[in-house]
Amino acid sequence: MDLYEHQARELFAEHGILVPQAEVTDSATRARAIARRLGGRVVVKAQVKTGGRGKAGGVKLAEDPAAAELAARRILGMDIKGHTAHTVMLAQPVDIDSEFYVSYVLDRAAGTFLAIASAEGGMDIEEVAATRPEAVARIPVDPAEGVTAAKAARIADAAGLPAQAVDVLVRLWGVLTREDAVLVEVNPLVRTAAGQILALDGKVTLDDNARFRRERWGAQEVTHDDPLEAEAAAKGLNYVKLDGEVGIIGNGAGLVMSTLDVVAGCGARPANFLDIGGGASARTMADGLNVILLDPAVKSVLVNVFGGITACDAVAEGIVEALDSVRLTKPLVVRLDGNNAARGRAILDDRAHPLIQQAATMDGAARQAADLALTANPL
Ligand code: GDP
Ligand code: MN
Repeated sequence: MDLYEHQARELFAEHGILVPQAEVTDSATRARAIARRLGGRVVVKAQVKTGGRGKAGGVKLAEDPAAAELAARRILGMDIKGHTAHTVMLAQPVDIDSEFYVSYVLDRAAGTFLAIASAEGGMDIEEVAATRPEAVARIPVDPAEGVTAAKAARIADAAGLPAQAVDVLVRLWGVLTREDAVLVEVNPLVRTAAGQILALDGKVTLDDNARFRRERWGAQEVTHDDPLEAEAAAKGLNYVKLDGEVGIIGNGAGLVMSTLDVVAGCGARPANFLDIGGGASARTMADGLNVILLDPAVKSVLVNVFGGITACDAVAEGIVEALDSVRLTKPLVVRLDGNNAARGRAILDDRAHPLIQQAATMDGAARQAADLALTANPL
């Protein structure tokens, strides 16, 4: 889960990283009062969970409270890369001498953390990284050792950051580890004209697996970019939308993952990942089918179930019952194996739905579903 800038700012402050004075509001009128409290001159910043606000017009310097109200009025409701600004943060402006970039990110491929830092931070960091990668230091951080003062000094040195940044690097590591984050980023980290080091912007991504001990952010809903994912999440389904045309339902994440592979191996593309888990009840089956059939890209659906604790006859009954509430509009290929497979197949044979066909093996089922999708939609 990503945090808003003002939430990241709060965490930084708690860990002793200097941040500008700031307040958040959803009202332009209140923005004026806040600006007055903060001294009149303020930076007005859209609170959206995406970067590039500055370039999109979502960060404005206001000279006085009236200008702050106007800026807030213009930013509230603004769309930035598909994210609507429902709130603005007003911050005391900072007299910037230089802008740096620092972040720690979990590098899954390397199986470690990575410190990324540059003396050329600010709004053009992506361009700097693309055109002059040597200006961006990338240093692995062993999570068991963490960022000690000595390690932080090496990071600062490699990136050309001033010595005062060392303390911030150590504290920022504390944010990552103690707050269960998988990413912390400060861009820009600035040196002020007076020589202070301040975090002017922050991005924090918390590890969703640690949600249970992050009640503080619990009011934040999980956001889904895709409307089908949102619908599936509301029904408690473990669904991920993909780009293909074969809808996939299976029980158990491992089985579903290998089903995706086998379908891809048949030359078709999976339309989704959907794990209905162990208790493949009629309700779950109907919910799953409904979500998948709502996807206009789906041309065929593959149900791949290995009966374990939930036996295949229960799954087959689930499918048959689901047909009462779901209007099947696309061909369904079902492969049942494992506990009570024969009984399950017999139940589906008895139902004899014209759009349902069965396959004895996973490979055969994938082949059938892929062929149905490919002939419905020739490439
Ligand atoms: P982003 O574009 O979404 O990353 O938003 P930032 O919070 O990083 O703001 C974009 C840019 O606005 C920064 O790189 C700074 O150059 C500038 N900026 C933000 N806050 C201040 C401030 O208090 N004073 C000054 N002078 N510039 C600021
Ligand atoms: Mn930024």
